[in-house]
Amino acid sequence: MQSRYRITVNGIVQGVGFRPFMYKLAKRYQLAGWVANATNGVIVEIEGSDEACQQLIDNIEKQAPELARIDKVTAQKIIPQNEKNFTIKESLPGERKTLISPDMGICEQCYADICDPNNRRYGYAFTNCTSCGPRFSIIKDLPYDRALTTMAAFRQCRKCQAEFDNPLDRRFHAQPNACADCGPQLSYWDAAGNALPGDALAQAKADIAAGKIIAVKGIGGYHLVCDALNQFAVATLRQRKHRYDKPFAVMMADLDTVREYCHCSPEEEQLLTSQRRPIVLLTKKDSAAKIADQVAPENSRLGVMLPYTPLHYLICSGFDVLVMTSANLSDEPIVYDDQEMSARLSTITDAVLTHNRPIFRRCDDSVMVSSRYGPLFLRRSRGFAPEPITIADCGQNVLAVGAEQKNTFCLTRQDEAIISQHIGELDNHGTYQSYQQEIAYFIKMFDAKPQVIAYDMHPNYLSSHYALAQDSSLLKIPVQHHHAHFASVLAEHKIEEPALALIYDGTGFGLDNSLWGGEVLLGDMCSFERKAHLLPLALPGGEQAIHQPWRQAMSVLVAAFGPDKLSEHAPPGLLKQGWQTLLQAMLAGINAPLSSGMGRLFDAVTALLGIGEYVNYEGQAAVALEQAIVADAEGKAYSFAINKEQSAYLIDWRHLIKQVVDDMASGVDKGIIAGRFHRAVVVMSLQIALLLREETGINIVAFSGGCWQNIYLLNNTYQSLQAAGFKVYFNQKVPINDGGIAYGQAAVAAAKISKGEI
Ligand code: ZN
Ligand code: ZN
Ligand code: FE
Repeated sequence: MQSRYRITVNGIVQGVGFRPFMYKLAKRYQLAGWVANATNGVIVEIEGSDEACQQLIDNIEKQAPELARIDKVTAQKIIPQNEKNFTIKESLPGERKTLISPDMGICEQCYADICDPNNRRYGYAFTNCTSCGPRFSIIKDLPYDRALTTMAAFRQCRKCQAEFDNPLDRRFHAQPNACADCGPQLSYWDAAGNALPGDALAQAKADIAAGKIIAVKGIGGYHLVCDALNQFAVATLRQRKHRYDKPFAVMMADLDTVREYCHCSPEEEQLLTSQRRPIVLLTKKDSAAKIADQVAPENSRLGVMLPYTPLHYLICSGFDVLVMTSANLSDEPIVYDDQEMSARLSTITDAVLTHNRPIFRRCDDSVMVSSRYGPLFLRRSRGFAPEPITIADCGQNVLAVGAEQKNTFCLTRQDEAIISQHIGELDNHGTYQSYQQEIAYFIKMFDAKPQVIAYDMHPNYLSSHYALAQDSSLLKIPVQHHHAHFASVLAEHKIEEPALALIYDGTGFGLDNSLWGGEVLLGDMCSFERKAHLLPLALPGGEQAIHQPWRQAMSVLVAAFGPDKLSEHAPPGLLKQGWQTLLQAMLAGINAPLSSGMGRLFDAVTALLGIGEYVNYEGQAAVALEQAIVADAEGKAYSFAINKEQSAYLIDWRHLIKQVVDDMASGVDKGIIAGRFHRAVVVMSLQIALLLREETGINIVAFSGGCWQNIYLLNNTYQSLQAAGFKVYFNQKVPINDGGIAYGQAAVAAAKISKGEI
């Protein structure tokens, strides 16, 4: 007696070798039927003995291809048709393929191919298969077919075509399939863009070895590459790139090399070696002293990644550590276009290792860091975007436009939130253009015309301007910045009930038109109340104070001791030229906006200690303060005062500042002071959570905001709240910084629509 089943598989199952996998599985169990792509998934029909059918169904999830993500398998018994063969069908009529796989690092089998002198792909830099290779960055439109990718111009040779057509070959329907005979080729240019004769790879490697800086075309853009052990090369790169302190990422040849230079836990090794190949922040070992200081100046961590393309493997062999930093000028977006490359980067690079497979869209490397409670994203981009994460379906497509810094945007379609690759700082002209272009592409590619736009309340964010300039038929929903941070955690962890939130970041626009950022909220995805916040501090000179934290230190000293006692208590050398004028302006309330940002308090304390009086990238002072902490058996903490005001608790740091100043005056080590300050924030977080649990009975606490990138703060606050019986959650699917804002905005908009509040 024959049985026949119709099976629907949902998830990421297209462009990942899923149909050939089903074909092989059906052959193994001697089943007939067919497999085809359908909207949001794959449909399979199988026919044969009932036992064999059951076995196949059981094995779909267990044996699925590495790149597939199975969300759901449903099987339904239908009438047998006496079919004899198993076939792979193209798409079912009338249905579209609508998911795009992220770009994936080279798989083990392809790596074996390029290393084997007897393989026809030996040393071939563009080797890939259905389990690996470029996807998102080369796709111009859907369906995912070679003709609609940047591989269209390359016609497969007879051998490649045979692989492409053979369901049993792992290159069956691998759209970017290629070999040295028919596929993309490397070339080597001088800085002016003239092709140089000879072996491109060999010349590039010789130049790197000789201390030169070269641009290398990768998956989502160009990298600037030099030998990380060469002090002079790295210093030259810093100078030419006009980037002074912000660490450069490095690529290391293999895991053994990583272990030689960095501490690496099993969890971190897993992140490094996954096919998504993010940059992972690791703690340097003493042996990392061999790496040029300028790679990550005054930083105990190093951003490390492993090779993720065949080309990377070919370049890295023979080198221990290469600098691999995005090819751009300061805050401009990463360069991905060959023409633009010569125009923009000729002053930075000595030469360019490029190739003739165009990159269709830019996509920066992802960045992750591991905490005691799991990994978190500092940037979610290559290897992850545009893989959707789930969100509650509100029946409308929502476009959430994100924040201003570390921008990503988010487009929802039913229960999928499709979050863009890292876009960057919107106040840069090139970045803002790229942002608008990508939004348009996403809407078209994913066939999800938005009916709703969610945006930040900040009147000066370009993302807000963008949202407000869109068609008036769209429903526009403003979302408060810290509520978006809060909601991003709730949505990730599917928390529907009310929760408390500790939202610590640098700056966000508050409901009272002032700058917020040290916020304790109570609420859900729909609405929130501000239950406590840091005492605001004045920022002398506005934006300038953020680049010059000594100004913030001056401000907290004035708050703690009064203006007359400022000179008496300021650490020697803290007050810079022009401070008197700044002080007068601040006291008169001129150009000194108030901010309750936790990041600002970190800045102020760091500057007091004399280790971050000026900064030139965001978060620099806080990183310095975290890394300054030294082991302290005593484990003392400074104290905040928590006072009930009319509607909220005010978290007052003035006494804390006095304690810092006292310790400094009595010669306490800076590392000890840094520890006491961090622990003060941990203790205060626990105290306020306990107070609010007492008042509300709520036992769930969410952490979000850029300050939580501080792993000492995250680990210790989590631990102490957990020990007090709280259920603690933080962002693990979207960045905990403003890169996660878009997802949170979408969650708030969706919740308001679902509840009929809009
Ligand atoms: Zn492969
Ligand atoms: Zn070929
Ligand atoms: Fe923020």
